[in-house]
Amino acid sequence: MEGRSLDEDAGMTTVKNIIGVASGKGGVGKSTVALNLALALGQTGAKVGLLDADIYGPSIPLMLGMKEAFMEVEANKLQPAEASGIKVVSFGFFAEQAHKAAIYRGPIISGILKQFLVDTNWSDLDYLIVDLPPGTGDIPLTLAQTIPITGILVVTTPQNVASNVAVKAVGMFEKLNVPIIGVVENMSGFVCNKCGEKHNVFGEGGAKRISEQFKIPLIGEIPLTAGIMAGSEEGRPIILTDPDSPSSNAFRSSAKNI
Ligand code: ADP
Repeated sequence: MEGRSLDEDAGMTTVKNIIGVASGKGGVGKSTVALNLALALGQTGAKVGLLDADIYGPSIPLMLGMKEAFMEVEANKLQPAEASGIKVVSFGFFAEQAHKAAIYRGPIISGILKQFLVDTNWSDLDYLIVDLPPGTGDIPLTLAQTIPITGILVVTTPQNVASNVAVKAVGMFEKLNVPIIGVVENMSGFVCNKCGEKHNVFGEGGAKRISEQFKIPLIGEIPLTAGIMAGSEEGRPIILTDPDSPSSNAFRSSAKNI
């Protein structure tokens, strides 16, 4: 994938690839996918940053077990926290905000995102993964209009109720002339430990439908796994704790397809 640089004249650090992770609706595993893909890319030796831009519902700190982390400011630049070899910035790190709802109107939220993008010492990353809030609101729009994005990954689950709204996210980014890298299907079947059979708990084919409709690649299919959920709850992502699991393999092969 062709690298892009942020505008250094505007005080932005060089970041080769900026990848937004979007979804039509919440709860499809967008943050889980963003986090595990960021870690998978980091495991290849790439320098990776993860920006949790889900300002209304930041979940990355919890998923990384970083509740107590905070970010410092040095020479007017926000210093990202570090976890498992990646640099992390999240609104959830602001202690006074951690347990409170973020009640801000769009322009304020856009301003916070711009600061996280531009006024942060990301220092020469190969990849900056931006975990966007679900839907097509102010934050995805601000991301698209503030910096040159390499592309967007859209996460959906297999059923129509998710894929039908994921289509809207794809449509929005297309309208803004932001390249779509592809679609990731999460919760893509559950393989029963006892009978060994794959059960399509959430139906099937959601990502394939989007891929065919928009002629964009199907980047990967991540199975529904208790280990993924438990890892999020415990702040220990599955790709680190159970690297040989089918889910971890699926995250790594998805990262290769980016
Ligand atoms: P979103 O960012 O789309 O709102 P999250 O990444 O926060 O979704 O995931 C929602 C919940 O689903 C979390 O509890 C997460 O651990 C769980 N989850 C996500 N993907 C999977 C999966 N493939 N298998 C099992 N649980 C998952």
